[in-house]
Amino acid sequence: MSLRLQNVEKVYPDFRLELDFEVRQGELLILLGPSGCGKTTTLRLIAGFIDPDSGLLSMDGRRVDTLPPHRRRIGIVFQDYALFPHLNVRDNIAFGLRMQGWSRGEARKRIGELLRLVSLEGYDVRRVTRLSGGEQQRVALARALAPEPRLLLLDEPLSALDAKLRKSLRTEIRRIQRELGVTTLYVTHDQEEALVLGDRVAVMREGHIEQIGTPEQVYNRPGSLFVGTFLGQANRVQGFLRERKGEMAVVETPVGILHARLPVEAGHAKTGQGEAGQTETSGAAGNHSEVTVFFRPEHCSTDGGRPGSGSRPNRISGRVIRREYLGSHRLIEVAAGSERFTLDLPEGQSPEIDGAIRFFVDPDRICLFPGEGS
Ligand code: ATP
Repeated sequence: MSLRLQNVEKVYPDFRLELDFEVRQGELLILLGPSGCGKTTTLRLIAGFIDPDSGLLSMDGRRVDTLPPHRRRIGIVFQDYALFPHLNVRDNIAFGLRMQGWSRGEARKRIGELLRLVSLEGYDVRRVTRLSGGEQQRVALARALAPEPRLLLLDEPLSALDAKLRKSLRTEIRRIQRELGVTTLYVTHDQEEALVLGDRVAVMREGHIEQIGTPEQVYNRPGSLFVGTFLGQANRVQGFLRERKGEMAVVETPVGILHARLPVEAGHAKTGQGEAGQTETSGAAGNHSEVTVFFRPEHCSTDGGRPGSGSRPNRISGRVIRREYLGSHRLIEVAAGSERFTLDLPEGQSPEIDGAIRFFVDPDRICLFPGEGS
């Protein structure tokens, strides 16, 4: 089942939501964005709890925004589980089945399947109030999946759990979603969760989707500075675009000349998968214009003092001002003039505090955004 939102609008006195996107058959699409950007309102529109002011919602090409919530066949899992506290595990899962007129025998069989699926076999008659947070969320997932929904909506399902449980349950959710092939829209404000879980990630900002793409596309080729900085640690430096030489741009910055490979234009993308227009928007600046140079800490490397690296492009020299130990690697903060950069280096490649450092930025990994990044 695929879900399509076409020119959907919802306007509140201080907020406007404008949506136009698709959740493809069988995929897990992540809706990621900061607090207040409209994620929950989007789910409520899809579920039918609120009506759009304009636009169309369709499932497999059939309009659904005219249907009441219970006729849309959508399963929902909320952050706070929303289980019935006076019912046991089995009766919580059976609730939707009973509403849909499943026979007792069919329901019993289905509940057995679901308890196995969410690894809660033998929990049938346990009171849900006696379960741990992770177990309660498994019950909530089983309850949402029981009536065989055409679409699953998950609204920050892991945010009430501790970090370790979040990681193990997200792996479980991914396994179950793949096993069932159920089309899923998953809301989170957690970048790591989004990148780990999503087949694709839709990054939202102030009521609209700023970019949709695979985790690799949105992380490595962000369509805007907002997407790039929201998805992870980033370095930025202001510059002037001096010239374009074929695919390469030459940018003058306070730390020297930097070369960046320009993204392939929309429609000519090598790996665009038909959505290059949504993912390849950086590099739009004209010659001699102001640009923001953007690159991630892990796309920097040192030469380890080896000779012959003098001709390598994108060399930046500075001084180490901070080191952060992260087990297998280190984050190094470097001062270069009045600029600050963060480098993610393997152990053994990190100089001491106050030591001089020379590092290189991979030209293929630099993104350019027009204008001054604020
Ligand atoms: P969070 O991550 O904090 O849950 P969110 O991205 O889910 O945030 P929404 O809950 O969708 O954001 O809210 C988006 C905006 O819409 C907010 O500014 C909110 O105040 C506004 N809003 C939501 N519902 C209503 C309503 N019924 N009346 C007026 N404004 C509303």
